[in-house]
Amino acid sequence: MDIRIGEIVASCERCAATEFAPLAPGPLRPESDVRCSACGATVKYGALLDQIGEEAMRRANQAIDELKKRPKR
Ligand SMILES: [Zn+2]
Repeated sequence: MDIRIGEIVASCERCAATEFAPLAPGPLRPESDVRCSACGATVKYGALLDQIGEEAMRRANQAIDELKKRPKR
């Protein structure tokens, strides 16, 4: 499964794959471990959510910068 919020997808820090599988059945919690389907690295689900949050922040800042670059009327 991919772990996404909106259009932002979490990727493995080791191999950049975006396919993860939970290690334990049941609902995913931030402290749950998920495994990268490509390289087998395990990572906390919460860490992937943080990664998505940081990417969302980066995109928001970029959008703001673009707005600032526009010439004022
Ligand atoms: Zn990986």
